[in-house]
Amino acid sequence: MVAVKVGVNGFGTIGKRVAEAVALQPDMELVGVVKTRPDYAAFYASSRGIPLYVPEDRLEEFRRRGLEPAGTVEDLLGKVDVVVDATPGGVGAKYKPLYEKHGVKAIFQGGEKADVAEVSFNTLCNYEEARGKRSLRVVSCNTTGLLRSICALQRVARIESVRATIVRRAADPKEVKRGPVNAIVPNPARAPSHHALDVKTVLPSLDIVTMAVVVPTTLMHVHIVYARLASSVTREDVVQAFMDTPRILLADDEAGLASTADLVEYFRDLGRKRYDIPELVIWLNSVNASGNEVMWMQAVHQESIVVPENIDAIRAVMDMASMEETLKTTDSTLGLMRGVIPRK
Ligand code: NAD
Repeated sequence: MVAVKVGVNGFGTIGKRVAEAVALQPDMELVGVVKTRPDYAAFYASSRGIPLYVPEDRLEEFRRRGLEPAGTVEDLLGKVDVVVDATPGGVGAKYKPLYEKHGVKAIFQGGEKADVAEVSFNTLCNYEEARGKRSLRVVSCNTTGLLRSICALQRVARIESVRATIVRRAADPKEVKRGPVNAIVPNPARAPSHHALDVKTVLPSLDIVTMAVVVPTTLMHVHIVYARLASSVTREDVVQAFMDTPRILLADDEAGLASTADLVEYFRDLGRKRYDIPELVIWLNSVNASGNEVMWMQAVHQESIVVPENIDAIRAVMDMASMEETLKTTDSTLGLMRGVIPRK
């Protein structure tokens, strides 16, 4: 099998996770990552044997620090088939002309505007539409979480409308500039929040409204979701649909998984690197169905939930696998689970 050559631009929260996930794929080769500063993350990448590519005017700075870059950003783009852009929101759009100049396919992140790419992407919702495109945008962490459960529920009955409240973490654990926050901040104090608009970049005809607040935590986001369906369903139908869907876990609060802190502790106990939880976690006992109305609560690990979708996005643009094939390969290589947790 000829491995697709992948570069990752930006080695922060998302970039480092995507780069390490790419390196685990049997059909991909991680050619290298772009670092702009010779900081601890550059030393970490170097210690793991990941080649560093840097802006031309930074080559000397890296060398002075004892790090030998494998080349410049343009050198990397000359070697790869696909670049995953994981630079801060808005920076990816500035790189787009360079990616086009080198004829590489590009995967952007949710911090970019939707028009940066041909298609906004979620594996379970629109994999087929994304196949063979030149560029995709993997939607944000909150949007990815919403889309996973919405597209799972769509298999039970047609969805007439979705209303959701997003309780957002204030910052990632490593971010010191945004905290501490001692407030609950409407985000913004009107409807809809941008999350509904972002969901509609993937499901344009869905009637969805969201409102959001920011709370003082770094661990995970929580969503309270209400859906109205075109026909009546039972709670068992809905739970079964979530159970059958890849990358969805159902957490049993009666076994102590009753908060985001408990979820994080459980995945620390399991030895997950960086306590990552790329699965969407739905609280089992929060799932409620009455006639054609369904409600549930779900938790999103913002630092890792988009990683599997980035891997699938690479296979989609290269048109190298079906949705079923990429779900199987990505989830087995990343050790993702489905069904009820905790488990024996
Ligand atoms: P980050 O700040 O942790 O990482 C960005 C990295 O890019 C940093 O290492 C930074 O040094 C580097 N960088 C900055 N300017 C650069 C440039 N010009 N060229 C190359 N590298 C540059 O950010 P992040 O949280 O990983 O976010 C990246 C993207 O992923 C954003 O679009 C964001 O909206 C999206 N996203 C973030 C999260 C999250 O919770 N952190 C979740 C989903 C999606």
